[in-house]
Amino acid sequence: MENLRTVYFVGGGPGDPELITVKGMKLLEEADIVVYTGSLVSEKVLKYCRKDARLISSASMHLDEIMAVITGSAREGKTVVRLHTGDPSLYSALREQADILDKEGIPYTVVPGVSSAFASAAVLKRELTMPGVTQTVIFTRLEGKTPVPEAESLSALASHNATICIFLSASMIDKVVEELCKSYPADTPAACVYKATWEEERSVKGTLSDIAVKVKEAGMTRHALIIVGRAIGGEEMASRLYDKEFKHGYRG
Ligand code: SAH
Repeated sequence: MENLRTVYFVGGGPGDPELITVKGMKLLEEADIVVYTGSLVSEKVLKYCRKDARLISSASMHLDEIMAVITGSAREGKTVVRLHTGDPSLYSALREQADILDKEGIPYTVVPGVSSAFASAAVLKRELTMPGVTQTVIFTRLEGKTPVPEAESLSALASHNATICIFLSASMIDKVVEELCKSYPADTPAACVYKATWEEERSVKGTLSDIAVKVKEAGMTRHALIIVGRAIGGEEMASRLYDKEFKHGYRG
């Protein structure tokens, strides 16, 4: 009889070690083995791990190699944490890993984390939903190695005039802007946050007409999130909220 252990998928948060959940931190303190997503996970978060824990970066590993480590260790009765950045439900390949564990009959638990989308909104000090502007947030990315369905092209999504958080795409900022401008006016507020909550954190703000230049000047190619939409705009937006004519419907 195997001494099978539950595997923990943990959202490590955006970078600041204080932005992992208490549950996630406790699991890191307990873990025998931590397989983390390479340079995206801050070393400061790894400091919660035991001194004798085995820390493995999955950056250069294939899915089957990662899963061999995880399943092998779980079967040996070791506590394994698979540490993802932000929240494991966004662009983390959680499903591929979970499917294999299901097939192998290995139990697992998912512990949520603070997504970089929310950390970036906090950096910008903005609400992603805003009464009278939009009540919808879209999480998306430009097509890379992972294809994006046609109906979800940035230009199609932009037609909703919602707030859009664009992951994994800062290095293709020209293409992002080109697609969005097919539906959004060029003066739509846009921002890019690099390494939100890390010491190196930086952000640029502008509109669709100048954000590409600003992102390139700042050298934000990876580890950066683009947020676009009227909700993240300037003070004139905020003043609308306090307009006597404006009906407050957001408390309910
Ligand atoms: N699951 C993660 C996303 C992983 S995909 C989450 O919920 O945040 C990796 C992408 O996330 C990066 O290309 C970048 O767009 C974004 N990202 C991750 N950490 C970030 C951070 N600290 N600041 C800004 N963007 C970040």
